[in-house]
Parts: sequence; structure tokens; C-alpha cells
Amino acid sequence: MSAIASKAILVINAGSSSLKFTLFRDSGQGDPVVAVNGQISGIGTAPVFEAKDAERRPLASKAWQAGEASDRTALLRHLLDWIEERLEGATLVAAGHRVVHGGVRHAAPVLVTPAVLEELEGLVPLAPLHQPHNLAAMRALAEAHPELPQVACFDTAFHRGQPWQAGMFAIPRELTDEGVRRYGFHGLSYEYIARRLPEIAPELADGRVVVAHLGSGASMCAIHAGRSVDSTMGFTALDGLPMGTRCGAIDPGVLIYLMRQKGLDAGAIEKLLYNRSGLLGVSGVSNDMRALLESADPHAEEAVELFCFRIAKETGGLASSMGGIDALVFTAGIGERSSPVRARVGDKLAWLGVTIDEAANTANAVKISTADSRIPVYVIPTDEERMIALHTRNALAR
Ligand code: ADP
Repeated sequence: MSAIASKAILVINAGSSSLKFTLFRDSGQGDPVVAVNGQISGIGTAPVFEAKDAERRPLASKAWQAGEASDRTALLRHLLDWIEERLEGATLVAAGHRVVHGGVRHAAPVLVTPAVLEELEGLVPLAPLHQPHNLAAMRALAEAHPELPQVACFDTAFHRGQPWQAGMFAIPRELTDEGVRRYGFHGLSYEYIARRLPEIAPELADGRVVVAHLGSGASMCAIHAGRSVDSTMGFTALDGLPMGTRCGAIDPGVLIYLMRQKGLDAGAIEKLLYNRSGLLGVSGVSNDMRALLESADPHAEEAVELFCFRIAKETGGLASSMGGIDALVFTAGIGERSSPVRARVGDKLAWLGVTIDEAANTANAVKISTADSRIPVYVIPTDEERMIALHTRNALAR
């Protein structure tokens, strides 16, 4: 990796059975640059390590037999050893982690210490499906390479400055006080967009912008003058828009019905709402937007329509939270690549003065609204990894 400058930053996004990583080179000038992308999949069963260069050309791969490398520490040691061999004189200065929950306390990334780890452990009940895996990766890395500084970057942090109304449920206050409140997620993505948008459209730097992050997880955020004001995800990443397999906003009375009439317990409800709902549940065909758009099944069409209906509806709500709207931005897998979804949402927002330029939309152009559209509409690829690398660099400098 002769292209690597004097410093390198490792970005880690750890899930239940996989760990995605990106190695950035950092000359200290401008943004860090991607050198390697990769992942370790099959953690806990039969792990596979794969790495590619910035042009997606394979660099390395290794498969372990079932049971051979079952613990994360050994796998992270392999990853770090592989990285060390490729640094060619450069220094790995830190690892930055995507961490789903920073609670009410963390409005910014923090250097990981045993005390921070313990505090983040306390947030596991708020994000039981993600937080334990994020923390396990930090612990394993600390064990494998205790000298390497680690920085935790939170998906909730960008939303911490929201007005209190955006964070509160109308429930007894003692529950709010113990943390049952709206946190908002996808914050690293929104923060990246808030940073990138003024480079594309300087006049929007102080504007009121609705951003739709439409991936397999999907949410929307109201950003005013670069700060999060409101978001569709709440206490968990289940609220708001319907997603690939998650239900999005639902009448809580449905949960009571499921318990009382169907005898479902917490685990069964969790599986139903996280894994069997959303686009998959409505269509019965797929959780993948591409498959739904290609399908002739009327239920697939209904799933697409419901998704777009809810995006348009949330746009109205988020605009109201800002007292107006000056721009709409699409990002993430579906937002960046699905022109039919964007066109449909645009049609539903015609009342607001949105007009989509068909040719620009089909081409996934940066600006997809017509010149006379009252609200400009942008497509901006998100880059959560780069945001984490930037945060990690800044946290080290502090
Ligand atoms: P994640 O949320 O897992 O990071 P992405 O942001 O990559 O995922 O989004 C993944 C989703 O993007 C897929 O489920 C797929 O439905 C959708 N997608 C990707 N490419 C296209 C496309 N060309 N047209 C429509 N949908 C797409």
C-alpha cells in the first residue's frame, strides 16, 4: 500500500455476525482517503475475511473452518496483522467505531476508555440488537492491541441538540427520565450530508433541509442550519418509515393486540416487527427495492407505494418542525439509486412545489429537480465511514 501516507485510520462497523472495515490514509490535509475496504463475515460460525482496494479489486481473502477462529479477539488480531503488513512505514494511529447508541449524554465522539465502555454497556437495553456487537468489537480490539487509541462515534450524537419536543414521548415522566425517549439514528449519515450539502449548494448552509436516508434501514431528518431538529426514528431504529423488514411507525395498540389476542411474547414481537415486516411483510416478495420494482405482483407495487406515501407524509411533518422547507435530499442505497422511488415521492410533493426533472432523475444527477421547482431536490451519496474517520482524526487531535 505504497499510496498510504504517514498515518492510517481504521474504521469499524461491527454487527452481530459480521464486521465491516475501511482503512483510510490520512495525510492530515483534506479528507482521509479510502485505501482498503473489507469485512469479516460468519463471525461465530465459519469466519471469512475479505479485503478490496479502493477500486474494489480483491486484495486478500481467508476462510476459517467452523470453530477454528470463533473469538473476535483472534479475528481482530488477524485483521490488524494484515493491516500492519500493508502499512509500509505508515502508522495506524487509531480505530474509529460506529456505535449505535450514545444515550442522552454523548453529543460527540469520545475516546474509548474502560469507564466509557462500562457506561456504554449501560445502554445495551436501549439497543440490544446492535450495541453489544459494537462494544464487543471495541473490547476485542483493546485486548488484541491495547496501545491503539479507539474512538466511539455515535449514531445518536447528531440528534442530541434537538428541541425537547422532538425527543419526548407523551408518557409518564419517570419513564422519560430513565431514558424512554426519542433519540434518532443514522446520525453519522445525516452529519455527513449536513457537511457535504453546503459544498454543493452554499445557499443552503443556513437552510431548512429534509434528508431521506433510504437504505435497508430508512429514516428521515429535519436539518436546519446544519443541525438536526427532528427525525423519524425514535427510541429504537424501528420507528418512522417502513424499511426492508422493519415496520416503521405503528400504533402501539397493535403490540397490545399481538400480546393479548395472539399470545406473542417480547421475542416474538421483536422478530415480527424487525424481521418480517416492512417492504418484505407488505409484499411477501422481497425486502429489496430492486426486486419490488421489477415484480409484477400487486403486493410488491403496494409495498413501493406505501414506502413512498410515508416518505412524502413524513416530509410534511419534518418541514413543519422547521417552519418550512428549502430543499429535499435523497441518500443511501434506495435514495441514491432508485429513480422510480424518487419520482414517485416527487409527485406526491407537487403540492409543496416539488418538480422532478425526469432526465436528471434517471441519470442519478446531483440535482434532480427542474430549474423552476420551488423546492430543489438533491441526490447526495452518504459516507458514514468517512465521517467516522474525520471524527477519529479530530478526537485524537483534541
Ligand atoms: P444498508 O442500509 O444496509 O447500508 P444500503 O444503503 O446499501 O443498505 O441500501 C440497501 C438497499 O438499497 C437495498 O435493500 C436495495 O433495496 C436498495 N437498492 C440498491 N440499489 C438499488 C437500485 N438500483 N434501485 C433500487 N433500490 C436499490
